[in-house]
Amino acid sequence: MERRENFQKVKNFFDRKLAEIGYYGIIGAAEFKGVYDALMPVQKAKLEDICGERFHNFIMNGSFICIGIAFPEYAIDCIDARLSDGTIDKDRWNIYADEYNKINGFLNAIAEEIADIFGGIPIQATIEGVKVKNVKEYYGMTISHRVVAENAGLGWRGKNELIVNEKFSCAIRFASIITDLPLIHGRRVEASCGECNACLEACLFLKNKDKLEDYREHCRKYILELGLKAEVCGKCIKACYRNSIFRGKFKLK
Ligand code: SF4
Ligand code: SF4
Repeated sequence: MERRENFQKVKNFFDRKLAEIGYYGIIGAAEFKGVYDALMPVQKAKLEDICGERFHNFIMNGSFICIGIAFPEYAIDCIDARLSDGTIDKDRWNIYADEYNKINGFLNAIAEEIADIFGGIPIQATIEGVKVKNVKEYYGMTISHRVVAENAGLGWRGKNELIVNEKFSCAIRFASIITDLPLIHGRRVEASCGECNACLEACLFLKNKDKLEDYREHCRKYILELGLKAEVCGKCIKACYRNSIFRGKFKLK
């Protein structure tokens, strides 16, 4: 009972914040140990470092709160926008990049507030301003929000490696809060991509991910070449929202 009430209090707070900023979102909680066990070794070490002396307490009694904010539909439709001659319309695509930055800012601020009010450690939506030579260098810098969201039952792992939520597709960004507040935990959602391949058709790196050493490195280089206002591309998100077998069910604001 206490766990359910605590979760409801955090959810009510998050819902108020969403109403203030005028965005849709989702929230869930996952067992700390379940997330820790699912992380890659370098992220396990990072999590131990983030938690410091509280790590053993979190392993016994901890949770991750996962908060997600969905993109507005108009921003998703700006991804890979083209001019009449077929070339990239960078100004429109940058509307998506601007939203990405804006949503990260909201998530970071709300995660900090939740951590302050309910007790915990916030983990920001993304790593800002770090230059790397290979995508692998990112792996040990933070904790995968996708693993947290998956464990919190906020969606399944799509073929594009993003979290697919039944309402918002993968057009969501996440931040997390580590806490020892007793909370009810979500259940993992069954992977449901089925025969759909829309995201794979939108991206050669994804389509060939099993043959490539690390498709994420190709993705990183493509994004750098693209040179938008944020390090984003998003074609695999738009493909899921607009062209997947679930396109009639997904609904963004
Ligand atoms: S972000 Fe772009 S390049 Fe990266 S996997 Fe998605 S579609 Fe491919
Ligand atoms: S586009 Fe289709 S295959 Fe790709 S993540 Fe979405 S539902 Fe899954």
